[in-house]
Amino acid sequence: MRGPPAGPRILLRRLREIMAEPINAQARLDKIVAQIAANMVAEVCSVYVLHSDGVLELYATEGLKREAVHHASLHIGQGLVGTIAAEARTLNLPDAQRHPAFRYLPETGEEIYNSFLGVPVLRAGGTLGVLVVQNRAHRNYHEEEVEALQTTAMVLAEMLAVGELSGLSRPGTSLDFKRPIMLSGLGLCEGVGLGHAVLHEPRVVVTALIGEDAERESERLDEAIASLRLFVDDMLSRDDIAATGEHRDVLEAYRMFAHDRGWVHRMHEAIRNGLSAEAAVEKVQSDMRALMLRQTMPFLRERLHDFDDLTNRLLRVLMNKPHGPGSEELPKDAIIIARNMGAAELLDYDREHIRGLVLEEGGPVSHVTIVARALGIATVGRAGNAVALVENGDAIIVDGESGEVHLRPSLDVEEAYAEKVRFRARRQEQYRLLRQKPALSTDNQRVRLLMNAGLLVDLPHLTESGAEGIGLFRTELQFMIAAKMPKLGEQRALYADVIAAAGDRPVTFRTLDIGGDKVLPYLATAEEENPAMGWRAIRLSLDRPGLLRMQLRALMQAAEGRELRIMLPMVTELGEVRKTRAMIDRELDHLRRHGHKLPDPLLLGVMIEVPSMLWQLDALAGVADFVSVGTNDLLQFMTASDRGNTRIAGRFDPLSRGFLRALRGIVRASEGRLPVTLCGELAGEPLGAMALIGVGYRSLSMSPAAIGPVKAMTLALDVGKLQHRLDGLLDDVEADGNAIRQALVEFAEAEGIPY
Ligand code: PEP
Ligand code: MG
Repeated sequence: MRGPPAGPRILLRRLREIMAEPINAQARLDKIVAQIAANMVAEVCSVYVLHSDGVLELYATEGLKREAVHHASLHIGQGLVGTIAAEARTLNLPDAQRHPAFRYLPETGEEIYNSFLGVPVLRAGGTLGVLVVQNRAHRNYHEEEVEALQTTAMVLAEMLAVGELSGLSRPGTSLDFKRPIMLSGLGLCEGVGLGHAVLHEPRVVVTALIGEDAERESERLDEAIASLRLFVDDMLSRDDIAATGEHRDVLEAYRMFAHDRGWVHRMHEAIRNGLSAEAAVEKVQSDMRALMLRQTMPFLRERLHDFDDLTNRLLRVLMNKPHGPGSEELPKDAIIIARNMGAAELLDYDREHIRGLVLEEGGPVSHVTIVARALGIATVGRAGNAVALVENGDAIIVDGESGEVHLRPSLDVEEAYAEKVRFRARRQEQYRLLRQKPALSTDNQRVRLLMNAGLLVDLPHLTESGAEGIGLFRTELQFMIAAKMPKLGEQRALYADVIAAAGDRPVTFRTLDIGGDKVLPYLATAEEENPAMGWRAIRLSLDRPGLLRMQLRALMQAAEGRELRIMLPMVTELGEVRKTRAMIDRELDHLRRHGHKLPDPLLLGVMIEVPSMLWQLDALAGVADFVSVGTNDLLQFMTASDRGNTRIAGRFDPLSRGFLRALRGIVRASEGRLPVTLCGELAGEPLGAMALIGVGYRSLSMSPAAIGPVKAMTLALDVGKLQHRLDGLLDDVEADGNAIRQALVEFAEAEGIPY
C-alpha cells in the first residue's frame, strides 16, 4: 500500500485544532482558509456559501481583498464558482481565465490568478457552498490536493450543518439548505399535519471526521465491508427470496455496489488522506450522490436509493449502531419521513405522537397507506427526494389532501395551514354533532352508512364516526402485517374483538383477499405476469382450502351463536360460491359435533368486483344472501386500467355514463332478490356517494373519516330530484357521457349540498 501523503493529513490535524479553539465563527473560518492556503502553497483560498435565493456569498478569503468578504457574490450557475455549485462538481483549471464560464469579480482583485481549483461543499448530495484555491502560476493541482480540498469541504459542510455559520450571513438572507421547499406528491390520506421531521431511518451522523491511524482505519473499513458483503450474500441465498422480481433486483444492485472495487478504492484513498473510516464512507457517498444526481438515466438515479441504503448500512456497521428506526424519543408532533416502509413498521410508532407521514414511494393501495388511513394519519406519497432534503427536527407540514409537503415552511405558509387545521377541526366538530343522527335525505330516503375496517386500531372509529356497522372488514390486513401466518387462536381473538366492539351493529367479514398487490411474505407464490388478474382472493383460497377452512372456523367460533356475515372477494362464477358454501357446511358440522354454538344466522355474501358477475345476479340470488360492490376492482376491470398505476390514475372517471349505468344495473338486477351494499372508495367521496344514492344505493361502506362528510351531504339531498336528473343524463344518448361529474357538481351547488 502507498504511504499516506503528508500534506492532507497534516492539514486535517491542523483543522481539528482550529475547530477546537474557543473563537468565533468568522475567526475560525479565516483561520481555516489561511491554513488551507499555507498547506497547499496556494496564494488564494476562499469559501463561498450558498444562500436560499441562489446567491453565493464570499464568506472568507486568504489572498483576495478582505473588503470583499460578505460583499462579493455571484449567482448559482454564474462564473466558475457558480458552475461548481450548480453542477456539484470539481473544477481543476491551469488557466481559469480561458474557461468560458470565467467571470471576473473586480471587488476581489482576482485577475492576476491563473490556476484554479474549486470543489463543492456537499451534504447529502446537495450543495451548501464552494471552496476554492487559486495560484498565479499555471499549475495543475494533483489528485491528492483535490482530495485534500474535498476533505476540507466536508469539515465546512459540518460547520454549516450545525448552524455555526448562520450568524455570519447578511441580514435578511438565509442559508440555502435551510430554505423552505415545497414538494408536490400524491395525497394518500386526508388531513393536515404540522410538526417536526423524524427520519424513519435516521441519518448516521459522523462526528469523528479525522483518523489518527490510517492503517487501523483501513482495517476497520475492510472488516465492515466484509461483514456487509456477508449480509448481502446471506440475503440473496435465503430461500424466501424469489428467483426473480424487484426484491432480488435490489439485492443484486446491493451486491454489485458492495463488490465495486472503485468504491472501495475511493474510500481507502480518503482514509489515506486523513479521514476516519466513517468519514471516508460519508465522503465517497456524498461524491457519488452528486455524481448520480447529475445522471439523466432514470435507472441510475433509481439505483441511488440502493447505494444510499448500502452506505448507511456500512456506516452503521462501523459505528456499531443497529439497523432500523431510531430509538430516540419521538417529538409530540412527529412527521415521519421514509423512502418507504411496511405497514407493521408504522404500527410500531406511538400513534399519539404522529401527525403525518411522508413517503418517497407509496401508492394509494399500498399496505402502509391502508394502515395510515386506518390510523387517520395525514399522508403524502411519491414525495420526490424528501429523505435527502430533510434533517431530523426540521419544521414540516403535510397536506394529505393536496399532496403538498412544505419543508421548513415560511411564516405565511405556517399561518395559512394553522388556519386550515382550525377550519378542519370546526368541520369535524360539526360532523361529530351529526353522529347520532340517521342519514335521512330531505325527501325521507334512509341511507345506511357503514365503515370499512381491517385492524384493531379501526375499532374505536365505530363509535367516533357514528357508523352503523362494518360493511367491509378486510381480514387480509392481519395477515399482511404479521411476520408469520396468524394461528387459529390469533384469528379468532381478532374477530371476537371486532364483534364485541360492534355490539349489535352488523359486521361483514371478507375472507382473505391476498394475491395481486397484497403479498404475504411468508406465503410462497409464483411470479405472475398479471397478478391482479391472477391467482388471488377466492381463487387462491379454494386452491389452498386449509387456509380458508381455518379462517372459517375462526370466524364461526368468534361469532359464538350470534349473526355471522361472511363475504367472498373476486368471485367470477357461481361455482366458487357453491364450493365455499359446501366448505362452510362441513365446518358447521364439525363445530356441531364438537359442541360449539353455531352462528345464527350465517349469511354468505359476494363481492361484485369482476364484471362477469353483472350478468349473473339473478342466478346468484339462489346461492348468496347479499352482495357488496367493490368499485375499486370493478372499475379496474371494466376500464382495463390497473388501479395501482399512477400514470393512468384518474384517466377514466367512475362518474361517467358507462360505469354509472353498470352500477345502476346492479341495483336494478338485485332488487327484491339480494340486499346490496357498495364498499369501494367511491362511496367515501361525497360527490361519488351522491351519485351512488342517485342510481339507487341505500347502503354504503367507506373509510370512517368519510362518514361525517357523506352524512352531511345526504342530509341536504333531495333524492327524488337527483334520481330524476341522473336518470335523464344516463339515458340521454345525445348527452355527453363524460360531463356527468360536472352536472353533479352543478346540481349540488344549486341545491346547497356540501360535497
Ligand atoms: C374494491 O375492490 O372495491 C374493494 C372494496 O376491495 P379492495 O379495495 O380491498 O380490493
Ligand atoms: Mg377488491
